[in-house]
Amino acid sequence: MRGRYSPRGLSAAARRGDERPPLDLRSDTVTKPTAAMRRAMAQAEVGDDVYGEDPTVNQLEQRAAEIFAKEAGLFLPSGTMGNTVAVKIHTRHGQEVICEARSHVVNYELAMMAWFSGCVPRVIHTPDGILTWERIRAEIRPLGPHWAPTGLIEIENTHNMAGGTVYPLEVLEQICDGAHEAGLKVHVDGARIFNAAACLGVPVRQLAAKADSVMFCLSKGLGAPVGSLLVGTAEAMAAARLYRKRLGGGMRQAGVLAAAGLIALEEMPARLEEDHANARLLAGALERMEGIRLTHPVQTNIVIFDVSGAGITAQEFSARLASRGVRINPVNATSLRLVTHLDAGRAECERALTALAEVAAGAAMNRGGERLPAAAELG
Ligand SMILES: *Cc1c(COP(=O)(O)O)cnc(C)c1O
Repeated sequence: MRGRYSPRGLSAAARRGDERPPLDLRSDTVTKPTAAMRRAMAQAEVGDDVYGEDPTVNQLEQRAAEIFAKEAGLFLPSGTMGNTVAVKIHTRHGQEVICEARSHVVNYELAMMAWFSGCVPRVIHTPDGILTWERIRAEIRPLGPHWAPTGLIEIENTHNMAGGTVYPLEVLEQICDGAHEAGLKVHVDGARIFNAAACLGVPVRQLAAKADSVMFCLSKGLGAPVGSLLVGTAEAMAAARLYRKRLGGGMRQAGVLAAAGLIALEEMPARLEEDHANARLLAGALERMEGIRLTHPVQTNIVIFDVSGAGITAQEFSARLASRGVRINPVNATSLRLVTHLDAGRAECERALTALAEVAAGAAMNRGGERLPAAAELG
């Protein structure tokens, strides 16, 4: 029977020589394009986008602008390029960008804020990744002989490394109102803003309403193979287009990618709640495993959990899980992150749950703890 802990270190499935491909919950970036996306890509009308002549890219940019109720959109090869270009258009060299300490723009973009825009981050530490206007206001620098002036407020919604947490609408609005009164712009790293919208049950345009620019990814929960968009004023997007070109993001017949992006944008937001339900299923079970602690409330498709109570490192936990055919990555020495997505349905998540329970129970046994319930008992 599958799902029983095996002291020999091999799951029943592995002993049977089960050949299923590993289940990949490392990120929602791992999704493969759907059959409909592949068909649309094959049939896409294309032109040279550097001349503004790719009809499919133009359509995608227009639809993104409409959906976010902004004047214009810009299609980019990655979210990193979208954030880079946004920081550039809103700031000048020698300024500070206020952002949360674990934000992507600070930790996972190769210091592009400094490298490309000449800005330094001024980070604010929070338990849940969610900034407030109170905290931001306290960090805004007065003009003076010693301080780099504040150039931009950057917020991440959902917050990736805080576990997919979501900004309450009124907190977002207070930040934007406060920033604008102080003469500052707000850029939203909305790589997963559709997940935030699904969680709150509001359209993305409401989350974007007061922001000066929003970047979002097509290539994560929305399932497109490549691409992100930046939306904002027509003037800002015209400036952003030139920086995109400078960075090598002029992609010529990019309509083949935009065609998949259009399907991602139009059809995929409606199914994100499935990913959230699967994340809740996994989180609910993890919470009941001995030695495992969720580090945050699970609101969207990301679950981060601490395994130090099980007497095992995150690295070792990940390795044992991999030997049971489930891939998730450590985020530090004691915690791991799993992300649910389009290519991991309910049945796959139940399979992951079994493997997680086996690894957790195995760690607890090695530590000399009592026999823990197996996956089947955990539900
Ligand atoms: C994934 C991600 C990005 C952009 O990533 P790319 O891999 O460059 O597309 C930006 N911000 C956050 C919060 C992300 O999770």
